[in-house]
Amino acid sequence: MSLMSFGFECGNGWYKLIYKLCADIREYYLTQYEGVGYEGETYYHEIPPHFSVEQVKEKWGALCFYISAAPEFVHELIRKAELKSYTICEHCGKELQWGIQSDGAYRSFYRDELPWILTLCDECLKVHLAERGLPFKPYISDWQYEVCAPYQIFKGGKNEENN
Ligand SMILES: [Zn+2]
Repeated sequence: MSLMSFGFECGNGWYKLIYKLCADIREYYLTQYEGVGYEGETYYHEIPPHFSVEQVKEKWGALCFYISAAPEFVHELIRKAELKSYTICEHCGKELQWGIQSDGAYRSFYRDELPWILTLCDECLKVHLAERGLPFKPYISDWQYEVCAPYQIFKGGKNEENN
């Protein structure tokens, strides 16, 4: 069952990222896809009717894009967009720089000490905290520092998780 009746359950800052992902998926189907459906019917350079986007939302500070069954190529496009969402402010769409700073501290925009985990730029974080009466502080949580999250996720451009 598609949950798309809920709309996109994430901030407007990821609009361009999601739009591009949808365009890339469409482009793949229309120019490269050749497949066989559940009843043995064949598809050539078209979007098969069994393909659907089930849910688009924010979870643990990242984009989650759920689809029905699809070729590996489509899943790879989605994985890349989901990783990229860690570097885009979910509120305003600003592209963020992550990495080790001159003082040696790791800096990301993954905010895991809020009541709700979010990926925000400094400006949007200040607004977000002010609206909730919370003090601004230079950002890095103990947990994030210990596991280098999400730094390791981006190491080498592929998902290496925290181990
Ligand atoms: Zn922002």
